[in-house]
Amino acid sequence: MKRNLLLTPGPTQVPPQLCEALGRPIIHHRTPQFQDNIKQALEGLKEVFQTKNDIYILTSSGSGAMEAAVVNLLSIGDKAIAVDGGKFGERWVELCQTYKANTVIHKVQWGKAPTAGEIKSLLNAHPDTKAVFITLAETSTGVTPDVKAIGEVVKNTKAVLVVDAISGLAAQEIRTDEWHCDVVVSGSQKGLMLPPGLAFVSASAKAIELINMSTTPRYYFDLRECKKAMEKTDTPFTPAIGILIALVDSLNMIKKDGLNNMFARYAQLARAVRAGCSAIGLELYPDPSCATNVLTAVKVPANIDGEKLTKIMRDTYGITFAGGQDHLKGKVIRMAHMGALDEYDVLTGLACLEKVLHQMGHKFELGAGLTAAQKSLNAKV
Ligand SMILES: *Cc1c(COP(=O)(O)O)cnc(C)c1O
Repeated sequence: MKRNLLLTPGPTQVPPQLCEALGRPIIHHRTPQFQDNIKQALEGLKEVFQTKNDIYILTSSGSGAMEAAVVNLLSIGDKAIAVDGGKFGERWVELCQTYKANTVIHKVQWGKAPTAGEIKSLLNAHPDTKAVFITLAETSTGVTPDVKAIGEVVKNTKAVLVVDAISGLAAQEIRTDEWHCDVVVSGSQKGLMLPPGLAFVSASAKAIELINMSTTPRYYFDLRECKKAMEKTDTPFTPAIGILIALVDSLNMIKKDGLNNMFARYAQLARAVRAGCSAIGLELYPDPSCATNVLTAVKVPANIDGEKLTKIMRDTYGITFAGGQDHLKGKVIRMAHMGALDEYDVLTGLACLEKVLHQMGHKFELGAGLTAAQKSLNAKV
């Protein structure tokens, strides 16, 4: 009878209303009834993306949308700048290299954000750049760059700005049009509170030009076909029908809640969790000046094995945190602040974290983290 509380930064908790929507019998996708769902989904997505651009709906995990961006924007040998400051930035690099783009890798120290100044220098040094790839919320490190400032730099060049907002969308602000983000990709299983299975790609007019010019072979992820289908309120292939139907409900929930209220709530959860972690001696992993509110990544005390910590929390108490990726394995833990999570979910998470840390011999005053988090949650801002 153990609970299963997902505090991971993807997949996230699916709220009961959406579980109900997902449990409905599916309908056929080539019908006016389903078209109505596509129409509503596209309208709702445009509000969340804050765009008037095209949005294409793909059936894949988020990485499928990343791959779609790369194969549709770039041809073999095209120059691309890819920012690599964590596991997901590295995915941009790997995708660009897989499709034989001439890839300029901008390595950023994990925990730090790339700056608009750095992107500007790179674009000056590589004026033939076709696309710049960045990450809104680098989920492996908990970092967010100044996307607006980067957009200001890229918009004056021939290059398009491509943003991985897979974990960021609906959890932190992204103003696609106002910030000149030509392509924004996302997925269903993070801020949108759904199971994995749908991915989204927005494309500006500047991006559509590149999509039409690319000579890279593509089939399932051909955005030209997606555009044609979208214009007929359709999808090129059978979409994840059940998830798309539930997406309409998810977007209605978000609309009712209000994006800004959601962002404020996640910021409040982030502050509380950070206050709680700090009170029990866990230091924030990223540079606080560029930490995203989508999740909190904290360092595990030197004498504690982070892998073991998250395993006990999950297997004994049913509370799932994410561990560290790559060289951070065992060294950091990550907790989400997005989707359907509320203050009692994060307090439950912190309580469990305290319990297991205490069992594992970490020295701190039991309850100090919860007290600090409660105080933070109750301090009206
Ligand atoms: C989760 C995530 C991805 C990967 O998405 P999948 O759905 O697992 O393919 C990519 N980028 C970021 C920033 C993510 O958080």
